[in-house]
Amino acid sequence: MRYEDRHAVITGGAKGIGLSTVRAFIREGARVSVFDVDDSAQQLAVEFPGKATFHRVDVSIAREVNDAVKRAIDVYGDISYLINNAGIQTYGTCADCTEDEWDRTMNINLKSAFLCSKACIPSMQKNGKGVVINLSSVQAFVSQNQVAAYTTSKTAMLGLTRSIAADYAPAIRCVAVCPGTVDTPMLRGSIHLSPDPAAVLQECHDMHPVKRIGTPDEVAELILFLCSDDAGFITGQPIRIDGGLGLSIGGSKRE
Ligand code: NAD
Repeated sequence: MRYEDRHAVITGGAKGIGLSTVRAFIREGARVSVFDVDDSAQQLAVEFPGKATFHRVDVSIAREVNDAVKRAIDVYGDISYLINNAGIQTYGTCADCTEDEWDRTMNINLKSAFLCSKACIPSMQKNGKGVVINLSSVQAFVSQNQVAAYTTSKTAMLGLTRSIAADYAPAIRCVAVCPGTVDTPMLRGSIHLSPDPAAVLQECHDMHPVKRIGTPDEVAELILFLCSDDAGFITGQPIRIDGGLGLSIGGSKRE
């Protein structure tokens, strides 16, 4: 019970990596405020009474974030951990991404982390310490084609991570988590855009040197570790959890 009675705010906790992270924190004794636009997260409050509270929040809108953070503190007290996980995958090259799609991607993937950090950090300071985890992506280092806005938003997360880490050390640490392909509703939604989803899924497995995609639980366990005192010497850095994606430039193997 590493996080007994600590308060964690987790954005995008209704599904995927966020949902696994909510469950992992609760297993370790934390009380979790779930911020999401998906009302299915209400079920978590029913499943874990006194341990999980759902706040319907669009994390790209300052007023909604500020109101939800106030309500969350009223319910569970000052915040120890903020997991900026909510995000969307969008597609398009620089030329065919519309201005609206660019703004929507930046607002949900990047501005949300700024807004939530801005609202939660004063509470962490009152608490004396805290950890902010920003969900970036392996696409902060290597990109797919046709993801101009997405890859830009995830790369910018590393800058926000460095800034928070530098500005608020030693009391508050900030770390970026950079997953490769992870089996979540986001991934399943993306591959179903293809005429042959099974072939795309196989391609996803094959492109990782470990020959499989990751699970949301694996990412959640990394986040738990990074929030713990065992990770107290890690701050400002991107931590990749990507099955080795992008490690090799190929070449023939020698016998
Ligand atoms: P997901 O789509 O399965 O879940 C995302 C959650 O965010 C959903 O519950 C959704 O309702 C919520 N959300 C979306 N917009 C929101 C908004 N405006 N306000 C509040 N909540 C909102 O996604 P996932 O695959 O679990 O991804 C989680 C994070 O990890 C994202 O930031 C994503 O970019 C990143 N990531 C995912 C992968 C992957 O392969 N799945 C890889 C690298 C990085």
